[in-house]
Amino acid sequence: MKNPGADILFYSDTLSSFDYGAGHPFKPARAKYFYELLNRFSLINEPGQMVLAPRKIDEELLLSFHTPEYIELLKRCDRGEYDLDMLRAGIGTGDNPVIRGMFEYSLLASGATHQGAMMLLENEARFVFNPHGGFHHAGMDTAEGFCYINDIAIAITSLLSHGKKVAYVDLDAHHGNGVQDAFYSDRRALTISLHETGKSLYPWTGFENETGTGEGEGFNVNLPFSPGTDDETYLDSFHRIVPPLITAFAPDVIFIEVGGDAHMDDPLTHMNLTSAAYKDSLGALKELCPRIIATGGGGYNVHKTAALWALAWATLCGIKPVDAFAGLVGGMMYGPEAQMGTLDDPPYSAAAADKKECRADAERVAEFIEKNIFPLHGIRAAS
Ligand SMILES: [Zn+2]
Repeated sequence: MKNPGADILFYSDTLSSFDYGAGHPFKPARAKYFYELLNRFSLINEPGQMVLAPRKIDEELLLSFHTPEYIELLKRCDRGEYDLDMLRAGIGTGDNPVIRGMFEYSLLASGATHQGAMMLLENEARFVFNPHGGFHHAGMDTAEGFCYINDIAIAITSLLSHGKKVAYVDLDAHHGNGVQDAFYSDRRALTISLHETGKSLYPWTGFENETGTGEGEGFNVNLPFSPGTDDETYLDSFHRIVPPLITAFAPDVIFIEVGGDAHMDDPLTHMNLTSAAYKDSLGALKELCPRIIATGGGGYNVHKTAALWALAWATLCGIKPVDAFAGLVGGMMYGPEAQMGTLDDPPYSAAAADKKECRADAERVAEFIEKNIFPLHGIRAAS
């Protein structure tokens, strides 16, 4: 029997300790809390799992997506230099500050994502998770949305150059604009982003009529949701649109960006999902392809994001979390008392009036995709 490959986690205390500066909402320490939860819930060091330390990406690979001029600016930024050219490239703003060590940090974070993708290619891995990756907003010559190097675009480009078809599914509350732009005219990558509508949230894009161009027409899919959307509405749309498209596309690899910021407790967004929406959608994706790579992404409630990633890891590895500390007096480490012993949230359903509005919007988007994109993939809508 062929070795199905291992479940690989990339983890680094050094990357978890990186600091965007006091007051910046992006906290790399989420990865550390996540790793601690894996230990607490007996989700790591199981047979078939491996934890690897990220290694720096080969700088040449950065140029498969970014311009040489932009990379030069990042290197200067890394030395603590600053000038107006950087500002034009989005570096040195409140969102994307000049930080000493940022380039080195990005080389390691993107190195893990790229190495993970190559391990899938070589059949050394079945599932890879890099909580330090997922910088889906970075453009070819711009930093934006806390993202400097687009590790996702680089890793997918490498998979495509090895003849693989990749389905990209972005669960972050923000539209995955950098990845959309990277593959907008490319039919070898099917990009699907589920997010809060650009009417109310950065990056103000990701509408359903952004469907790809030229050869890539119909291979870029956006599911924008209204503020306040809950699990039920979200999952109805997910199941109606995502599995049929991925099944028809038949990818060699699914790449998932698991931003934790679509959770109802996130301070920067307005989606109202619970852990159930993440678990259900990730469980469905697992059934669609034997090779999966996932990264972190957004998530500004650090402990909630850590819990969502632990659930994502468990779901995609196919193992059940067991709280080693449950029942121990004084054993609580994180979160409210009520969440002791479980990574799952209590159920939540939006109030009837809000739900009706969110549902009508989601319905309209799903109908648009069924009418305009499904036929390009030879899919007949179920409804
Ligand atoms: Zn986000």
